[in-house]
Amino acid sequence: MGITKQNVAGGGGNSSGVEVMPDMYSASLSMYAASLQKPPVAPAAGGFIKISRRKLLKNLEVNSAERISSWVDSMKASSPTHVKAAPRSLTEDHSSSWMLHHPSALDMFEQIIDASQGKQIVMFLDYDGTLSPIVDDPDQAFMSKQMRATVKKLARCFPTAIVSGRCRDKVYSFVRLGELYYAGSHGMDIKGPAKGSKYKKGDQSVLFQPASEFLPMIDEVYKKLVEKTKSTPGAKVENNKFCVSVHFRRVDEKEWTELAQQVRSVIKEYPELRLTQGRKVLEIRPTIKWDKGKALEFLLESLGFANCTNVFPVYIGDDRTDEDAFKILRDRGQGFGILVSKFPKETNASYSLQEPEEVMNFLRRLVEWKRLNI
Ligand SMILES: [Mg+2]
Repeated sequence: MGITKQNVAGGGGNSSGVEVMPDMYSASLSMYAASLQKPPVAPAAGGFIKISRRKLLKNLEVNSAERISSWVDSMKASSPTHVKAAPRSLTEDHSSSWMLHHPSALDMFEQIIDASQGKQIVMFLDYDGTLSPIVDDPDQAFMSKQMRATVKKLARCFPTAIVSGRCRDKVYSFVRLGELYYAGSHGMDIKGPAKGSKYKKGDQSVLFQPASEFLPMIDEVYKKLVEKTKSTPGAKVENNKFCVSVHFRRVDEKEWTELAQQVRSVIKEYPELRLTQGRKVLEIRPTIKWDKGKALEFLLESLGFANCTNVFPVYIGDDRTDEDAFKILRDRGQGFGILVSKFPKETNASYSLQEPEEVMNFLRRLVEWKRLNI
């Protein structure tokens, strides 16, 4: 039970040429074991995951009007479209008090640098909405050349990882920088630098996939969701390998309830899967306790900072799924999170930046500072 060869690719000569270092392997084992509340029986062997009665009831409580309407409320909350409609003074009061608690990382740059003194900065970057603007078509979410050049320079100064909900291949096709760590599918698909990183250990790269036994199920759900959501104009289903995303960036708000019902009707058959929400996206993924926060810890460990006090992780992200990582940093009391948002939101991040443009400026300042202080 627990980890199998499937979960960790490596051990020499596989087709992708990817290997796992011995210490990585045991780190993976312990992380994996600790991350599972109840280890899954591989579906391939005809088993299914035991879930608590409460969870099961919750999952079976489908299509009830109340449940769907709370989904839609949550979709609205994580994808604000009406903030400007609030009374101006109220919005301003709220914003200024929020900014007091989550000041701009650009304004606080000196303090941030002071806090990192004597420690190794490690950078974690979400992709959509952080390095690239949120656009209507998720396939067109390109990052600018300037942003790519900035991230390239950043990776020369600090170990740098991209942590995204998208599948790893997809996010790599946008970023195209071989020297970074990539954690795709919310960290369920992690790969170390292919080339040219001074932070890479030896000739070996890391590949870690804690949910590989779910692949056939995810594929099946993807196909069903494509079929089911066909009738909702603008809905786009994306197979992210270890999770399925249903983008509603282009769906009229009047159709959100209908879309929520369609998604619900598919996933009610799969108690092994759960639904999470991001900005204009519903995401369906395995119930294993693995998220961007776990990915962050795993990466810190694989970079050799498992129990170090002299590490300073900085995580920049824009949506709810990034909160798991912000929370880990808060709990560890190491480094901090930066939320990318124009609107006040409840967050575990310490600082804020308004948009990808500001993220780029912040990263540039880090690079400049590092160059002056080598
Ligand atoms: Mg994002």
